Amino acid sequence: MNTKEIIEIYNRYVIPNYTRNPILLTKGHGVDVWDAEGKRYLDLFSGWAVSLLGHCNSSVVKAIQTQASKLIHAPNIYYTEPQGLLAKYISEKSFGGQCFFCNSGAEANEAAIKLARIHSSSTGRYKIITFSDSFHGRTIATVSATAQPKYQKGFAPLVEGFTYVPFNDLDALKKAVDDKTCAIMLETIQGEGGINIANKDFLQGVRKLCDEKGLLLILDEVQCGMGRTGKYFAYQHYDIEPDIMALAKSLGGGISIGAMTAKKEIAKSLVPGSHASTFGGNPLACSAGVAVFETIEKENLLENVKKMGSYSIDQLKLLQKAHKVIKEVRGVGLMIGTELNVNGTEIIKNCIQAGLFLNCTHETVIRFMPPLNVKKENIDEGLTILKTVLFNLNL
Ligand SMILES: *Cc1c(COP(=O)(O)O)cnc(C)c1O
Repeated sequence: MNTKEIIEIYNRYVIPNYTRNPILLTKGHGVDVWDAEGKRYLDLFSGWAVSLLGHCNSSVVKAIQTQASKLIHAPNIYYTEPQGLLAKYISEKSFGGQCFFCNSGAEANEAAIKLARIHSSSTGRYKIITFSDSFHGRTIATVSATAQPKYQKGFAPLVEGFTYVPFNDLDALKKAVDDKTCAIMLETIQGEGGINIANKDFLQGVRKLCDEKGLLLILDEVQCGMGRTGKYFAYQHYDIEPDIMALAKSLGGGISIGAMTAKKEIAKSLVPGSHASTFGGNPLACSAGVAVFETIEKENLLENVKKMGSYSIDQLKLLQKAHKVIKEVRGVGLMIGTELNVNGTEIIKNCIQAGLFLNCTHETVIRFMPPLNVKKENIDEGLTILKTVLFNLNL
């Protein structure tokens, strides 16, 4: 079927809760994606950082194909090798905790919220502090944790017990802690909020505050984790460790999977019967996750992220010199935001028409999150398109 026919079907049968571009995607390979008419696009956004190793990475494809022919689903009352191996990878590459598996970022955060509450339940503490411009997901609890009114509008009453504080403001945070607070939850680098990087003093101060007051530190690394910043997890740039961490998006290299990992002494509060997910940790998704870790290791991709990240930031800063519309370039590794002094929607629309997938978040921030194995020539090609678009729009 062609683009027009599929769009007609969507218009009739699919709930219109997304703003979609009129493009029917049919296949992808590495940084390239094609539509039904055979047009090629360069994808430097990776679908919200999901396609961590590019589209249809051969190791991920092979892992899924092999696993699919053996066992696709197994209920969590049995054991499977992929779930065990993926938990081991996550634990060994982070802070030595234990994992609970689910299917998305919202569910990983939901599990983190539930764990923080049940772990603190004997003390009567249940409040969780989150931050301005955060994004933690769309379930009713995670949207309550998300301190942005635009995501909450129309869904009242929200889940009780969330307190919001300005991001990177340690004094305000200290004032917000009370005798009912059980946890502090934040993205190490805010993604949806516009690539806002936690200051080192701030995050270290949060850790210290948690230690002093006996609070749990929950880091949402759903977007910034899995090597995107040049270390496996963004908190590893800060010489601190969280107590609980949420992962999803890129964890399965394109397959839907989420994970919450927590220090063992906290994780044990999640006793049998307290929490579960039917599909969580299924062998198919976990085999993809294992392939992602193996590929990052085998291809030394964290090194590539550092190199390509600093190259991209340098090139974007050069672009900034020529285009006053660019206010600031900021990022860590391959999680990069280019802040404009205009709304970026038109620029992104033009980029997509010109064959480049990028995204604009928080109205004015162009988000650049190519796969970890991106090459210099891909970045050059993308920036040439962006430059032409800015030039043609007289920006
Ligand atoms: C995308 C995102 C989520 C939600 O993940 P879903 O898989 O869409 O539920 C949560 N936290 C952060 C930081 C995200 O970027």
